[in-house]
Amino acid sequence: AKGKGRHQVEWYSNEMHQRLWQRMEVEVDLRKAIFRNELKVHYQPIVSARDESIMGLEALLRWEHPQKGMVSPAVFIPVAEESGEIVALGWWSIGQICRDIHYWENTLLKQIRVSVNLSLDQLHHPDFIERFHETCQNMKVSPSCFRFEVTESVTMANVNETIHRLKQLNAMGCELSLDDFGTGFSSMSYLQQLPVQELKIDKSFIRKMTDKKSREIVSTMIHMAHVLGKNVVAEGVEKKEEVDWLKDFQCDKIQGYYYHRPMPLEELLKVVSANG
Ligand code: C2E
Ligand code: CA
Ligand code: CA
Ligand code: CA
Repeated sequence: AKGKGRHQVEWYSNEMHQRLWQRMEVEVDLRKAIFRNELKVHYQPIVSARDESIMGLEALLRWEHPQKGMVSPAVFIPVAEESGEIVALGWWSIGQICRDIHYWENTLLKQIRVSVNLSLDQLHHPDFIERFHETCQNMKVSPSCFRFEVTESVTMANVNETIHRLKQLNAMGCELSLDDFGTGFSSMSYLQQLPVQELKIDKSFIRKMTDKKSREIVSTMIHMAHVLGKNVVAEGVEKKEEVDWLKDFQCDKIQGYYYHRPMPLEELLKVVSANG
C-alpha cells in the first residue's frame, strides 16, 4: 500500500508538471499571438425576444494557434488575466471591433451596439477611460457603439472606483451589462446602485429550466431586474422550449445557439443581408 501511495504522488506531480508546462506555453505563445495575426473577433447576435430581430452583438475573442488549433477563450482568457496580457489583448480587440464597425456601417447593423467583455485589469487600468476615448476618436467610432459586460466579481473588486468608472462610461454614451448574473453574490441594494442597464442571466440557469423550481427562479430574476429598471438578456439559449418559457416570463433579449452561434465578420454580414 505504501508503494502504491508513492506511485500516486509521482503520478499527480507529473500531471501537475505537465499542466504547468502547458500553461507556460500558452502564456508565451499568447504574447506573440497579436503580431502573428492569430487572434480574431467573432460576433454572436443577440435577438429581441419579441420579434427575433438582431438587437446587439457580443464580441468574443478567438485564437487560432499554429500548432494547437482553436484554443478556447475559457482556456486562454484566464491565462491572459493572470499574466497581465489581457490588457494588450483587450486593446487589440477594441481596435479590431472599431474597424469592423466601419465595415457594417452601411448595413442593417448600423445602429447596433457591440458588447465587449471587460476583465478586472482592463476596467481598473489607470488609463482605461482616457485611452478608450482616444481610441474612439482616432478610429472615428462613437463610444455609443459599445456596451461593456462586467461580471459581479469585476465590479466588487473596488466598489466605489468601479461605480465611478462605470458612470464615466455611461456619460460617454456606452451602455453596461452585468454578465453571468446569478452566479455571484450581489444583494438587491448593491444591484440597485450599480449603474448597469442590463442583466445577463447565466446559461447555467437556462440549462436547468426543465425543472419547475428553476423556471420559477428565472422568472423571478427577470421580474426583479425589471423592478430595478434593467433589461434582461438570457444567455446560452439552445432549445425552442427555453425560448417559449423566456418569452412567457417577459425576458427582453435572447442570445444562444438556438438563434445564432458566434461567427466571423464575413459570415455575420451574410446573415444580416439574408435577413434584410
Ligand atoms: P461569456 O462572456 O459568458 O460569453 C458567453 C459564452 O457562451 C461564449 O463562450 C459563447 O460562445 C457561449 N455561448 C453562446 N451561446 C451559447 C449556447 O447557446 N450554448 C452554450 N453552451 N454556449 C453558448 P466563449 O466564446 O467560449 O467565451 C468564454 C468566455 O471567455 C466568455 O464568457 C468571457 O468570459 C471570456 N471572453 C471571451 N472573449 C473575451 C474578450 O474579448 N475579453 C474578455 N475579457 N473575456 C472574453
Ligand atoms: Ca459576456
Ligand atoms: Ca456570460
Ligand atoms: Ca463567463
